[in-house]
Formats: sequence, structure tokens, C-alpha cells
Amino acid sequence: MAKLKTTVDKSRCISSGDCIETAPTVFAFDADDKSEVVNQEGADPETILATARGCPVRAITLIDEETGVRLYPAPKK
Ligand code: SF4
Repeated sequence: MAKLKTTVDKSRCISSGDCIETAPTVFAFDADDKSEVVNQEGADPETILATARGCPVRAITLIDEETGVRLYPAPKK
């Protein structure tokens, strides 16, 4: 799987904590209890993809760092 750049849209994050539970080495709560990425390479890509899929408000976006293509959510066709 490609090397990922992971971002969290804090304006969407509802602080559910799912991503932090799945990948505590990648995500952490900031001072406002919004998730943020603390280590881009803190987990394998499959685990990071699982966090994005598991976010209840789809606040996590994954981009292929080499090509710039958005991998999740998949671009609309
Ligand atoms: S899973 Fe989504 S809503 Fe929950 S803390 Fe992570 S980014 Fe926020």
C-alpha cells in the first residue's frame, strides 16, 4: 500500500475517540478534545485505513503522499 498522508478535519471531529483507540500511536486528542495526527507513520497503512473507515463522521482523509491522489474517502466518480 502507498505511503499515506493522514489529516483530520477538526471541524468535523466529534471526539468519539475511535481513531485513537485503533491507532494510539498515530492520533491523539488536542487541547480541545479534537483528534490530530501526532505521527504519520505510527501504524501500518492498513491500520490507518481502518481508522479512516471507522470514523463516524468521516473526518479522516488519506492521501497517497507520492501521487497526491486521495485514497479515502474515495473521490466521487
Ligand atoms: S474517529 Fe473521527 S470523530 Fe472520532 S476522534 Fe477520530 S477523527 Fe474524531
